[in-house]
Amino acid sequence: MEAISTFDMLKIGIGPSSSHTLGPWRAAEKWLVELQKKVAFVDVIEVNVYIYGSLSLTGKGHATDYALMLGLSGQDPEYIPIENIHTIINRINEEKFIELDGKFTISFNPEKNIIFKKEFLPFHANGMTFEAILFDGQKLKTTYYSIGGGFVVKKEQKRAKKNIEIFNSFPFPIANGVQLLNYCKDQDKSISEIVLENERSLRTDKEIDTELNRIWDTMLDCMYTGCHTEGFLPGGLNVRRRAFEIHQKLKENNPYESSKEWLFSIRNTTVKFRQILQWVSCFALAVNEVNASLGRVVTAPTNGSAGVIPAVLMYYMVIENHEADFTQIKKFLLVAGEIGSIFKKGATISAAMGGCQAEIGVSSAMAAGALTEVLGGTPEQVLMAAEIAMEHHLGLTCDPINGLVQIPCIERNSMGAIKAINAAELALNSNPEEAKVPLDKVVNTMWETAKDMNSKYKETSKGGLAVDVSFTDC
Ligand code: SF4
Repeated sequence: MEAISTFDMLKIGIGPSSSHTLGPWRAAEKWLVELQKKVAFVDVIEVNVYIYGSLSLTGKGHATDYALMLGLSGQDPEYIPIENIHTIINRINEEKFIELDGKFTISFNPEKNIIFKKEFLPFHANGMTFEAILFDGQKLKTTYYSIGGGFVVKKEQKRAKKNIEIFNSFPFPIANGVQLLNYCKDQDKSISEIVLENERSLRTDKEIDTELNRIWDTMLDCMYTGCHTEGFLPGGLNVRRRAFEIHQKLKENNPYESSKEWLFSIRNTTVKFRQILQWVSCFALAVNEVNASLGRVVTAPTNGSAGVIPAVLMYYMVIENHEADFTQIKKFLLVAGEIGSIFKKGATISAAMGGCQAEIGVSSAMAAGALTEVLGGTPEQVLMAAEIAMEHHLGLTCDPINGLVQIPCIERNSMGAIKAINAAELALNSNPEEAKVPLDKVVNTMWETAKDMNSKYKETSKGGLAVDVSFTDC
C-alpha cells in the first residue's frame, strides 16, 4: 500500500492542471536529474518529449507544453515568480533555445521537439517519453506517467518498495476508511490526531506547521487574487472572470490592504443565506480563475478542483467560526488530505482515469469530511460526510470545452463546495450507525464507475460539452 502524506495531496503549484501541468513539469525535473547521472549536458545534441493519450488530446488547453518547457528549464513550480512564466516561454518560442536545468543552452523548438501523439500508452492515459540524443548518436529514453494530483511514476515503479516501507513505518498505516475508524476508536483520537501522528513520523512538528501554514497562505492569497482580478481568461474562449464582480457586490466598501486584512474584514460582515452561497461560490470561482490563468494554487487533490477546499475552509472561518485560527486550519487540512489519500489508494484522483468524479467528487468529499471534524463531528460522521459528498458526484464526466480548464471546471468547484457543506450538515444531523453506504463502498463504486466510463469522458475533450458546444457558441 502507498504511503501518502497530507503534503502529497496538497501541493503548491501552477495552474491549470495537476495531471497535465504540474505532473509533466515534475516529470521533466526528474528526467533531468536522471539524465545528469548518465551523461553530461554537453554530450546532448537534441532533446525531444513525446506526449501521449489524454496528455496529448487536452495538452494544449492544459498548458502541458508550457509545463514541459519550464520543467526542462529547471524552474520550480512552487517558487517561480508568476510574471516570469510567460517571459521564459516567449523566449524559448522566439529564440528556439532552452537552458537545460538553467545550466546548459541547447537548441529547442517547441513545435518540433514536443511531439503530440494521439495513441495511448497501455499503463496510463497520461504518458510522456523524454528522449536525449547524444553526439555519438545514442538515444536515451525514459517514460513517465502523470497519474493525477501532480503524482508522477515510472511504469516499473522503482520506488514502490521504498514507499511500502514508509507506509508500514507509519504508527497508523491507513488503507481505507474502516482502518482509519478503527484507529480512532482504539486510540480514542480524532481523525486529525491520527493523521498528525503519521505526519510526525515523516517530519518535525515545526516543519508540519510551517508547511501547513504555507499551504493555507497560498490558498488565501489565491482567493484574494481571484477576487481582485477582472477581465477575461486566456485560451480563446473569452470567459469573463466572475469572482471580481461578485466580490465587488459583496464587500460593501470594507477597506483592506492584504489577504490577511481581507479575511479579517469579511469575517466581521453579517451575511444572509443567499450571501453565504454567493461568498462560497466567489471563493471557489476566484481560485479556479487564478488556476485557469496559470496562477499559483494548491492541488486539492488536483488543480482543476483546487477551489473546493479553500472555499469550504473560508466558509468555516468566515461564517461558522470567527474565532478559528491555525489550530482549526491544521485539523481541516489534515483530515482533507487523509480522505483524499483514501480515494487515491482505493480508486483514482486522475480525471484521465475516472472523469470529474475523481477530481471535483474527491475534493468535495475531502472538504465535507474536514468541515465535519472542525464543526465537532465524530470520526464516523466525518467519513459519512465524505461518503455523502462522493455519492452525489458518482459518474460525473470530464469534458472540458477546447481542453481548457474553464468550462465546466470553474463553476463546478462552487458546486462541489456547496455540496460539501450540505454533506457535512447531513452527516452532523444523522446517526452514522444507520448509514447504508460506508465510505469504502463508495470509493469502490467510484473506481468501478471509472473503469466503466467511456474514454470520451475522461479528459479527452472528445465527448459531452466539449463536442456539443462549439468554439463559436462560446
Ligand atoms: S471537467 Fe472536472 S476533471 Fe475535467 S478538467 Fe474540468 S475540473 Fe478537471
